[in-house]
Amino acid sequence: MNMKIGVIKGDGIGPEIVDEAVKVLDRIAEAYGHSFSYTQLLMGGASIDANGVPLTEETLEQARASDAVLMGSIGGDARTSPWYRLEPEKRPEAGLLGLRKGLNLFANLRPAVLYRELKEACPLKAEIAEKGFDMMIMRELTGGLYFGNRSTVEVDGETVAKDELVYSGTEIRRIAKRGFDIAMKRRKKVTSVDKANVLDSSRLWRKVVEEVAEDYPEVTLEHMLVDNCAMQLVKDPAQFDVILTENMFGDILSDEASMVTGSIGMLASASLNETKFGLYEPSGGSAPDIAGKGIANPIATILSAAMMLRYSFDLDKEAQAVEDAVSAVLRDGYRTADIMSAGMRQIGTKEMGDRICGYIR
Ligand code: NAD
Repeated sequence: MNMKIGVIKGDGIGPEIVDEAVKVLDRIAEAYGHSFSYTQLLMGGASIDANGVPLTEETLEQARASDAVLMGSIGGDARTSPWYRLEPEKRPEAGLLGLRKGLNLFANLRPAVLYRELKEACPLKAEIAEKGFDMMIMRELTGGLYFGNRSTVEVDGETVAKDELVYSGTEIRRIAKRGFDIAMKRRKKVTSVDKANVLDSSRLWRKVVEEVAEDYPEVTLEHMLVDNCAMQLVKDPAQFDVILTENMFGDILSDEASMVTGSIGMLASASLNETKFGLYEPSGGSAPDIAGKGIANPIATILSAAMMLRYSFDLDKEAQAVEDAVSAVLRDGYRTADIMSAGMRQIGTKEMGDRICGYIR
């Protein structure tokens, strides 16, 4: 398979962690007979330095012309970086929002996996951590409360603020289809999370999700209220496979789920549109505090590249090979500083990439 991958190395630790993910993709290409070509794209702070803006129309076009985009992370230290003396729409993060919008990325996927080898990092009780968990949070990214009309007005001498929560059937249907497609590649269970006992938008959500479920008879669908889901994530996270939910609920639940895994350097993510195209990036930021030291954990970016193989290229076997290699490296006791624990061997960013490549056969 020949694939064109746009690469945004970004700022801070971005270039260091992306280099290791590209190394792993090259190893996969070699082992499985594929060809990946890379186009370097500038976005965020690096683009401000080169072009005066965080995202150019040319970069957006090049991203659109790629089969998928692999990204590190963007941004700097807001207290010291000159990028944060610019107006908000010229800062690094505006580039990322522009990219998501320009590519119509409406589905955000955040896996939360507890590796048995890292269970000491899990803040949950030992008997819960012991079981491990592996879930995918599928969050609608371009609708709902964050994109509705909002206003703050004075009414009879009182300040009143209003935010609108709007979802159309079309918006719900397209994310639900994506959620069921992902479940078909996993353990075939979807937990749709809403607040249907109170909200009209949630009642429509539930109705449309049930209609979509009819096309996926192999997938088990359950509904869960968002408050219950927040509790279940800490009580029994192993019950979840795919959690499908709207924008704000997903924002909160995906952060909760990532906290219970214990390490930001391990968390991948993907944002998808209606085609096979996706933007793949670690969940963490550009970590300016450790940039250039060669100690950042590249695993989240490497696992994001594995998601690219699975969800944009349908290379499930190759994605599994990357995930198995990550597990093997952890099993054999290798750790970057952020996930280090007693008795393990601490290694740097490059050695972690090399060791993961070494386990790919
Ligand atoms: P951060 O995620 O960059 O860092 C938080 C902590 O986690 C730091 O101590 C950092 O060293 C550590 N960390 C993060 N990733 C790591 C890794 N791979 N290996 C080891 N340790 C890691 O969050 P922050 O400090 O709040 O933000 C820094 C910059 O990143 C800001 O400019 C912010 O806007 C930006 N940011 C970008 C994205 C993105 O590109 N999608 C996401 C979040 C934050």
